[in-house]
Amino acid sequence: MPIKDLYQPSRPVISFEIFPPKKDAAVESIYAPLSQMAALRPDFISVTYGAGGSGSVNRTTQVAAHIRRQYGITVLAHLTCQGADHAKILETLRQLRAEDIHDILALRGDRESSHCPHPTSRPLPAAHFRYAEDLIRDIREQGDFCIGAACYPEGHIECDDLALDIARLRRKQEAGADFLITQLFYDNDIFYRFLDKARRGGVTLPISAGVMPILGQAQIERMIFLCGASLPPVIVKILHKYADSPEDLRQAGIEYAAKQINGLLEHGADGVHIYTMNKPEIAEQCMKSIGRIE
Ligand code: FAD
Repeated sequence: MPIKDLYQPSRPVISFEIFPPKKDAAVESIYAPLSQMAALRPDFISVTYGAGGSGSVNRTTQVAAHIRRQYGITVLAHLTCQGADHAKILETLRQLRAEDIHDILALRGDRESSHCPHPTSRPLPAAHFRYAEDLIRDIREQGDFCIGAACYPEGHIECDDLALDIARLRRKQEAGADFLITQLFYDNDIFYRFLDKARRGGVTLPISAGVMPILGQAQIERMIFLCGASLPPVIVKILHKYADSPEDLRQAGIEYAAKQINGLLEHGADGVHIYTMNKPEIAEQCMKSIGRIE
């Protein structure tokens, strides 16, 4: 079933995001954590695509194909278009189709390579694809793919005007996107306000809210810098309280994320996308907290 059809008013879509191992690590190194995550039966698992268009499509496709074949779980393959041309995109679509993968998260992408799933961008050179909407249009023309796109509750880091960012989001919808996933945020009120503005701005697609648990001080500093996410006082207090106790900070971060997810679901979010950072224990605690597993 295409991911767009998973979105039903009665049941929010719960998804996980993972990233393929780096090139110098064996691709199989992800398989053990994956099998633990697959046992939690998320509605789908998304697999990121290396930043800057330099990442190996094979890794994304390989890991995505493994998930689909081994566990029968719907898989969403991320795909970035920066630096790519039409022929390269067609080749990637061919590879995905050959693996029976028909759900793609269509992104512009970033230049920097980073652990951050969504590192920041710099101005792009003129290329065949300037924005994600160009990629979305290109994939839509191929006919047989369900297309997701990214959105930004606090506005994309390069765009100072949220209303303008939402107008551009609407262009992605008009280009053929079927559903949306947000960048991480730490204050649910930011998401609710964004949702309200997006709906008033004519964005009607289902929107999954992206949640990334805080695992450490360095991670959060990097995230704020790269993605422009703001920190509510409650998070600052947690960081302060556990500054000298990384394990307690990690636990508090996961608990905060679980609370965030529960709040989002109570508010009626279409879905929640959990940035697992390839850590099954994060996914497990979140799934337990919402009663999807015992
Ligand atoms: P776009 O929608 O093209 O937007 C980029 C910027 O251009 C925005 O500031 C927007 O306002 C502006 N813009 C858009 N359209 C127009 C227009 N027509 N005219 C003028 N300006 C315009 N990156 C990776 O490299 N690999 C991944 O796997 C990955 N996964 C992600 C998953 C999620 C859920 C999210 C939220 C992000 C992910 N990213 C990933 C990061 C993403 O590539 C970056 O955030 C990138 O900077 C923007 O991508 P986009 O698809 O939102 O771009």
